[in-house]
Amino acid sequence: MNYYAAPIARLIEEFSKLPGIGRKTAQRLAFHVLNMKENDVVNLSEAIIYAKKSTKYCSECANITDIDPCSICRNENRDKSIICVVEDPKDVIAMEKTKEFKGVYHVLHGAISPMEGIGPGDIRIKELLLRLQKNEVTEVILATNPTIEGEATSMYISKLIKPSGIKVTRIAHGIPVGGDLEYADEVTLSKALEGRREL
Ligand SMILES: [Zn+2]
Repeated sequence: MNYYAAPIARLIEEFSKLPGIGRKTAQRLAFHVLNMKENDVVNLSEAIIYAKKSTKYCSECANITDIDPCSICRNENRDKSIICVVEDPKDVIAMEKTKEFKGVYHVLHGAISPMEGIGPGDIRIKELLLRLQKNEVTEVILATNPTIEGEATSMYISKLIKPSGIKVTRIAHGIPVGGDLEYADEVTLSKALEGRREL
């Protein structure tokens, strides 16, 4: 039996699809929305649609951007010869907050995970190799997460790039194993970048 009126049930259903939102939180959010001013509800729903519709992947680094190429790739002061490879757009934000890195990025949008059926072809590795062919790159910094998947991804990419003679480095492990780059504090992350070692 359904305890909720159909529109509320639908809203709870949609909220519960979001990451980290359980059934109870979804219910709380749904009832909160019903108590909001109509104008605020319209603003919220429009912000969601606008964010989704006005963003795309940067054609160079695959970071999420509203203008292509993204602000980092467009910036003349960034060193295009150093590419930092990360798993997720949120990792770009984490690296940028350190204010240490002056190169450009490459976002893989995932990591190799045989357990989840994600192979090398499912993330943006070939796009990275294409960039290396087209541009003068001297160093590739592998800043995937220090998880089993992140390490496997780094090893895989390193093996592909090394024959080209381009320097390949891996960020140091100031970051706890199994941790997420996104949640590392700025000091830890900048130390990890500083202490990167050649693969
Ligand atoms: Zn870009």
